[in-house]
This record gives sequence, C-alpha cells and structure tokens, in this order.
Amino acid sequence: MKGLEDRIRKEGRVIGDSILKVDSFLNHQVDPVLMDHIGAEFADLFHGVTITKVLTLEASGIAPALAAAYHLGVPLIFAKKSGSHNIGSDVYTSVVHSFTYNRDYMVQVSRAYLASDDRVLIVDDFLANGAAIRGMMELIAKAGASCAGVGVVVEKAFQDGGQQLRSSGVRVESLARIASMKDGEIQFVPEENTGN
Ligand code: 5GP
Repeated sequence: MKGLEDRIRKEGRVIGDSILKVDSFLNHQVDPVLMDHIGAEFADLFHGVTITKVLTLEASGIAPALAAAYHLGVPLIFAKKSGSHNIGSDVYTSVVHSFTYNRDYMVQVSRAYLASDDRVLIVDDFLANGAAIRGMMELIAKAGASCAGVGVVVEKAFQDGGQQLRSSGVRVESLARIASMKDGEIQFVPEENTGN
C-alpha cells in the first residue's frame, strides 16, 4: 500500500535493528483517514471470503481492526490483556510472548462473543515473530471457530512470523512488508512480493 510505505519512510523511527516506532499515525496518535484506507484495503483483499467477526489485541490493533470491521460490516472484538492470572470460566484465554516487552501475558475474550460458527479475520498493527497472531488463533480454536485469514498493517519480513503462518496454511495479507531496518534505513519488500 503505497501511501502507507511513504508514511513509514517519512515518520517511522527505527530503534536498534528490529523495532519500528510509528507513534505519529498508528501506535499512539492515530490518523483516522489512513485507518479508513487501511480498513478499505483489508476489506478489498478479503472480498469474497466469509468473515463474521474481526479479532485484534488491545491496544494498538484496535484502530486498524475497527476500520477493517467497519468496511467488512461485521463486529470487532478486541482480546484483553490480563496480566498472568486466569480470570474465570466465562472467557477463552491464551498466553502471548510480547516481542516489544520481552515478557509473557495472558489474553482473554469473553465466550459470549466468539461462537463455533464464527469465521474470524485477525487484524493487528505489526507482525514480527507471530506470537500475538498465534495467541489469537488459539482463542479462535478454543471457541471452535475458524480463522478466515490474517491482515497486518506492517509485517517485518526479516522476522519469521509471517513465513511460519503462511507455511502452516494461514492466509496472511500485509499492507507494508519491511525487508530490513539496518542502520536505521527502512527497506521494503517490493509490493508485488506479497509473501503469499
Ligand atoms: P509478534 O507477536 O508477531 O512477535 O509481535 C507483534 C506484536 O508486537 C504486535 O501486536 C505489536 O504490538 C508488537 N510489535 C512487534 N514489533 C513491533 C515494532 O517493530 N513496532 C511496534 N510499534 N510494535 C511492534
């Protein structure tokens, strides 16, 4: 997605060799017009696929996931982070290892909002090693629902989450794929190479 790559080039800040900060439009301040375009793009990419819900993880997945849900005409569910304790029987839970904070945390979704006949599109802001997506896939599996695909705004293709998910048969669509961020310089994977 061209406009997104331009924005990342202009406003992205690279921390070390592997963390990208895009706080000015995605992760802290949010650009609603860009989110609308992102939502429309996901709806377009998954056109013709049966999707009944969009699932993301609080907090930074919510903005792009809400836009996708709006364009798909389905509800958004955001999994809540809940420290490391189990919080009752009316929720599905899974444990996710945070790439950015290097710790495990538990995520939960109320049983009321995921049913066995749901076809769920997972949307997240970043895909790195794939732990967040796998955690959400576990929630979906626990509900007996199915995952219709994964949409991510930024895939860091030099980490292997995307590759692992695709080779296990999951459809992953990324709007920007970063090949490397060596010495603070962001290189994108050419757009025609979607990884699929
Ligand atoms: P994964 O679970 O795929 O290793 O990492 C994805 C999750 O970690 C995303 O939900 C995102 O919140 C966070 N994350 C991973 N890499 C980055 C990054 O480079 N920048 C930001 N802002 N978040 C990241």
